[in-house]
Amino acid sequence: SSNMFRSMSCKKNLAYVDGKWVSAKSGKTFPVINPVDCSTIECVPDMDEADTSLAIDAASRSFQTFKKTLAKERSDLLRSWFNLMVKHSEELAQIMTKENGKSLDESRAEIRYGNSFIEWFAEEARRINGEILQAPVKNRELFLMKQPVGTAAFITPWNFPHAMITRKAGAALAAGCTCVIKPSEDTPLTALALAHLAEEAGFPPGVINVLTTSVDNSVAVGQELCNNPKVRVLSFTGSTTVGKILYKQCASTMKRLSLELGGNAPYIVFETADINLAVTGALASKFRNTGQTCISANRFFVHSKVYDEFVCKFMTKIESDIKMGDGSKKGITHGPLIKESQFKIVNNLVNDAKAKGATVHCGGKSLSEVGPLFYAPTVITDVTRDMEIYGKEIFGPVAVIHKFEDEEDVIQRANEVPVGLAGYFFSRDISQIFRVARNLEVGMIGVNEGLISCSEAAFGGVKESGIGREGSSHGIDEYIDIKYVCLGNV
Ligand code: ADP
Repeated sequence: SSNMFRSMSCKKNLAYVDGKWVSAKSGKTFPVINPVDCSTIECVPDMDEADTSLAIDAASRSFQTFKKTLAKERSDLLRSWFNLMVKHSEELAQIMTKENGKSLDESRAEIRYGNSFIEWFAEEARRINGEILQAPVKNRELFLMKQPVGTAAFITPWNFPHAMITRKAGAALAAGCTCVIKPSEDTPLTALALAHLAEEAGFPPGVINVLTTSVDNSVAVGQELCNNPKVRVLSFTGSTTVGKILYKQCASTMKRLSLELGGNAPYIVFETADINLAVTGALASKFRNTGQTCISANRFFVHSKVYDEFVCKFMTKIESDIKMGDGSKKGITHGPLIKESQFKIVNNLVNDAKAKGATVHCGGKSLSEVGPLFYAPTVITDVTRDMEIYGKEIFGPVAVIHKFEDEEDVIQRANEVPVGLAGYFFSRDISQIFRVARNLEVGMIGVNEGLISCSEAAFGGVKESGIGREGSSHGIDEYIDIKYVCLGNV
């Protein structure tokens, strides 16, 4: 397996287009940075819009044959890819920890989670069935055929470098779509390692393409992916700001769109909650990936009767369970923030809250002795509406805790943001559980549970958190066109 790692490393500084490992036509490259110490890991090709156009050509050529493959053949290809991902899990985790900074344990968990989508869609591929309808007229048969939409483009973020690709690619490939993947400039190496395994699994040239781009080229590459008429569906995971840009750009070619955007999850602890469970869930939901996930608990609301107990136990658990540092080292649970811009956002939000009178119970400062991008796990209370952090998606290891008195009021506060991705609440009152689940304006809810994602479930949001669902049997719908066939006079 160390041979495999060597062969992965020797190819992973090239992009993957039409079954070939290639440089950018311009010859340009850009560095991939390890956020633990901001050192350069290696350089990868900086593909531009001309490279992108060629990759789209390759994907749309290969679509002409890939769309005709049997569901069983696509299932087998996905299964082979999954088996290779399992076999090389540890190398994938090592690559991820290097470029993303999350701890090895977190990387391993993401690899398991990411792999599970390829396994799931290998299974689902064989169950994409059409329908025969009741005709309203005699001597007619009405059919609904299911066909792949066409070439798909994926733009993916850095926080889950593996799973955000497999969640899209598994569904698209199961449906018979080919794809062009543009991973985040911060984490292209995991994407290239996945392409390497896809090649070994036997996907035909052009079915899976990976374009690495620097931050400078991302805008132009994004425009080409949106404007090129050969791309028929775009799937994006990232910020709401960029999602809105892509939504507009895709209007010109009327593309199918799947958008998984920002969240701002409420985390509500009612007075009947099991406080120990709520504390365990809070730690997992808030601090996973150092708070850099779109379903992270972002606004804690704790009932006044259990407030002191919750805050106290939460702080104790943070103290005992979180050890920040170089994620490749044993015993380290949490890594740094991904880059300086992210670090500044978090630092400024906390400083503003402090200056305006918020109470910082722990953290509230950088951990520069550990590394330039480390920020201490932080708990803040007494946050008021005039503070910038109020109601903001933080994307860092900072927990803001509010006190509340009654259910109606807390639901109204939970729903007052323009986004709705995940929401969590802890209660042992069965009527309340149903009421609150019905009334929270989000796409996913954890009840007495802080970690809820899996390939079996539908992932997605409401309001400005996006469009469409990933995972589950519904994930494939994003890549399927329904064709109605009316057979008359039979
Ligand atoms: P995050 O806040 O997670 O960094 P972004 O939305 O900025 O989220 O980035 C997610 C992905 O979108 C990355 O692959 C990034 O390169 C890409 N991206 C950023 N801006 C644009 C753009 N204008 N057009 C296309 N892709 C973009």
